[in-house]
Amino acid sequence: MKPTRTGRSDEGRSDEGRSHDDDRPKDDPGDGTTTVDDLKGLVERFVAEREWHVFHNPKNLAMSLAIETAELMEHFQWLTPEQAEQAVREPSPRAEIGEEMADCLAYLLSLANVMKLDLSSALREKMLKNAVKYPVATSRGVARPGDPDPRRDGKCPPLPRTPRPDEVSGS
Ligand SMILES: [Mg+2]
Repeated sequence: MKPTRTGRSDEGRSDEGRSHDDDRPKDDPGDGTTTVDDLKGLVERFVAEREWHVFHNPKNLAMSLAIETAELMEHFQWLTPEQAEQAVREPSPRAEIGEEMADCLAYLLSLANVMKLDLSSALREKMLKNAVKYPVATSRGVARPGDPDPRRDGKCPPLPRTPRPDEVSGS
């Protein structure tokens, strides 16, 4: 069993025991304390040092984001859903998939930098719209409103209880 980047071993651990910290080097502050502005600044400095602003217009960045998402999808192409679940648990594909996710995030952050768009606000506003578009009462457990509930025919396990708004961190 290979040690993780943090030096800890995965041996004997179930996926349920995985923590967000497992992929994080010991000296990295991690998602819990890194802000979106921190990440925007990291990407901005990288671009500025290379004088790449001339290439970073909204069209090029949106296309680059789409290309990186395709590279992310390539890791799952031809896999069954079960094989895809397994791939994200195994150290090597997990690390490669994480790199593609980072590429996607870097371009998304660069696009937000160029547009001077506040991503946190954009996400919160969009989630409010989504909550109206997909009310819990008609959307819970179904991919599209109006579809039959797959839990009724036993095709998938019941969903966990939906947390109340006061139980969700950051709200
Ligand atoms: Mg890539």
